[in-house]
Amino acid sequence: MSLDGTYDDGNIFAKILRGDMPAARVFEDEHVLAFMDVFPQARGHTLVIPKHSTARNLLDEDPAVLAELIKDVQRVARAVRAALKPDGLVVTQFNGALAGQTVYHLHFHIIPRWEGVPVGRHASGGMADPAELKVLAAQIAAQIS
Ligand code: AMP
Repeated sequence: MSLDGTYDDGNIFAKILRGDMPAARVFEDEHVLAFMDVFPQARGHTLVIPKHSTARNLLDEDPAVLAELIKDVQRVARAVRAALKPDGLVVTQFNGALAGQTVYHLHFHIIPRWEGVPVGRHASGGMADPAELKVLAAQIAAQIS
């Protein structure tokens, strides 16, 4: 899918938001949901998405929504850091298929990095054990402030 197009509410994240698909939920409030990536590039790979949005990507989003969303990305990233003690954290966001985007509901990736541990490839790794994701989600959730 190119940068242009209309929002499809059949996308995976819209299904998670509706409760039609399971997710290891980390944090949610009125505006955002954070949950574990099921094909993580690293242990603790977390996604943050706006709840009431039909933005497929960063370019579509209302700047006012984006301004609030990035604060929650920071909040969740701080919790990931506190819970998992990584040596670094990558925050990424892809726009359009050519750029690597595979799910067309705006989202930010938070990917912890540890010295000497290679990062997995984007959207092409193995599926994580749901039970392990639940444990990680609870560990990160406990650090949300
Ligand atoms: P992107 O390629 O930037 O659109 O990112 C989409 C991300 O969603 C990828 O990292 C996938 O591993 C992840 N993903 C796909 N399906 C699910 C799912 N059902 N639950 C959680 N994460 C998912």
